[in-house]
Amino acid sequence: MEPLSINAPSLLRELTRNGGVTRQALQTTLKVSGPTVTRTILELTDLGVLESTVTAAGAKGRPAETVDLASDGLCIIAVSIRAERATVSLLDARGQGVEIRGLPLGEETDYAEAVGLIGQAALQLTATAAARFRSLAGVGISFGGSADFTTGAITTPSAFKRWRGKPLARDLEFYTGLPCAIDNYSFALVGALNWFDASKAADFFLVVADYGIGGVSSIGNQAYLGQERRPGDFGHIGSRTTGRLACHCGGYDCLAATSSVKTIDREARDQGLATGKTRDLAELVRSLDASQGEAALSLLTGAARRIAENALTICRGMGLISCVFGGVLFDCSPAACAAVEDVFAAPGHSAAPRFLHQLFDGRSPDNLAAASVAYHLLSDKRQVYPLAAYRDGDAMRLRRLS
Ligand SMILES: [Zn+2]
Repeated sequence: MEPLSINAPSLLRELTRNGGVTRQALQTTLKVSGPTVTRTILELTDLGVLESTVTAAGAKGRPAETVDLASDGLCIIAVSIRAERATVSLLDARGQGVEIRGLPLGEETDYAEAVGLIGQAALQLTATAAARFRSLAGVGISFGGSADFTTGAITTPSAFKRWRGKPLARDLEFYTGLPCAIDNYSFALVGALNWFDASKAADFFLVVADYGIGGVSSIGNQAYLGQERRPGDFGHIGSRTTGRLACHCGGYDCLAATSSVKTIDREARDQGLATGKTRDLAELVRSLDASQGEAALSLLTGAARRIAENALTICRGMGLISCVFGGVLFDCSPAACAAVEDVFAAPGHSAAPRFLHQLFDGRSPDNLAAASVAYHLLSDKRQVYPLAAYRDGDAMRLRRLS
C-alpha cells in the first residue's frame, strides 16, 4: 500500500484535538498550501477516515465546509499493561472506549501465556472493529515499565522481571497479524497529551505518580529524553524528608521511597488505615481520600507536596510554564491535587499545575496513552489498515499490507 501523504498524520492529529474544522483553518494550522490540504483531505476521505459537512450559508452568503473524523472511520486497539491492571480496548479515533476487556495479567504471568492472552483479546476486538469501523490505526501498547518503541522490546527497569528483553510488540504482531507498537507509560502519556489535549499545551513537565514515580518533559510536541532516557529517574530525586528511608536504588529519601503510591499503601497498612491485600491502587487512594481522616489525608498530601516541590524546581530550571500531574495519586485524590495547587501558589515563578484527569475530559489516561502509541506508529509508517480485508475473513492480508 502507498504510504499516506506527509501531512496526513498532523492533519489527523489536528482533527483529533478539534473536530469540525474548515479547510482554511487547517491550512493555517498546518502551515501548508490550500491544494496540499485539499489533496490530503481527499486521500483520507477516500479511505473513509474523514467526512465533510457543508453547513448552510452564513452571513457572508457562502456555505462553509468543515472537515471532521468520520465516526465509523478510524479505530485503535489499545493495550494497557501495568503492574496492577491490564486491559485491551477498542477505541474510536478520539480515544473513546467502544469495548474494554480486563486481562488476568500480572508481574508473575509467563511471557508466552501473556502474548496469547493479549493476542486473543486483540483479535476478538478486531472482529468487533471490522463490523463497525473502516480502518485500524494499529495496536498500541502502553507498558508500565521501560520499553523501546524502536525495537518493540521490553527493557530494564521493569516490574515485569520475567518479560525483560522480550520483543512484545513484534511477538504480538506475529501472533495477530496486526501492526503493533510499544512504549513506556510515561512517554506514552506525553504522546497522549500532545495528540489528544484540545488545549494544546505549551512545553510541559509531566509527573506520573503511581506504584512508582515518573517524570518526563515535553518540548515541541515530543518527549524530551535527556541524557539518561529514563522517566523513572525523577522518582530518584531526594525528597528531603528526615526519615532516611532506604530506596531500592541504594540511595535515601528518593521520591520513589517516600512518596510513591506503593509507599502510601505500606504506610496506610502500618498505621491501620488499610487492611487486606491491595488489589487496586486507585481504590486505595480513593478510599483514603474519602475517609477525610487526618492521618490518611496527611499521607496523600505529604506525598503530593514532596512530588510537587521537586516538579516545580524542574519547571523553574527549564523555564516551563506548565506542569501536568497524573497517575492514581492525582487522578483519584482531590486532596493531593489541592496540595499541588498550594505548592505552586508560591511566588516567584510562572509555572501552573494542570491535572490529567481534567485535560482528558472523561477519557481514560491508560487508554489514551496506548492510543498515542498506535498514532505514533501511524505517523512513522504513514499507514492505516483497511478492515474490509479482515471482514472478508482474510486476517493475514492485514499483515501483508503492513
Ligand atoms: Zn532511589
